[in-house]
Amino acid sequence: MPVDATQPYDDQNIFARILRGEIPSKTVYEDEHTLAFHDIAPWSPTHLLVIPKGAYVSWDDFSARASDAEIAGFVRAVGHVARAAGLVEPGYRLLANTGAHSHQEVPHLHVHILAGRPLGPMLAQNDGRS
Ligand code: 5GP
Repeated sequence: MPVDATQPYDDQNIFARILRGEIPSKTVYEDEHTLAFHDIAPWSPTHLLVIPKGAYVSWDDFSARASDAEIAGFVRAVGHVARAAGLVEPGYRLLANTGAHSHQEVPHLHVHILAGRPLGPMLAQNDGRS
């Protein structure tokens, strides 16, 4: 069920539970502000999720409310995770679904890192353009 990017933070969402250690995940990186782990249902040979540890529903929420340290730490962590996974060449895609039209399903900000094969056009062709 797609989420509303402006809804209040739900501390029972699946990524909040992963952060609290209530649900296992295959962690690839962790620091003060950030956790990165494998997506449970990968869309590409490499499919990682990078999330801030703070309680932010979406990119909109994070960019409006997070501290400069959290934002800088998160952006650097996304780059680090991709580099550490060896994805810079031949390349990767970042995706941050935000709200209902994007089909965001988990109401805790996450950046998808997709890689490992040519990923094709930005959106499914059968959606039509614009
Ligand atoms: P969204 O559609 O919100 O951008 O993406 C949510 C992502 O979270 C999906 O790709 C989905 O496979 C992943 N996901 C959902 N539940 C879990 C889980 O329990 N563990 C992990 N590792 N990934 C999950």
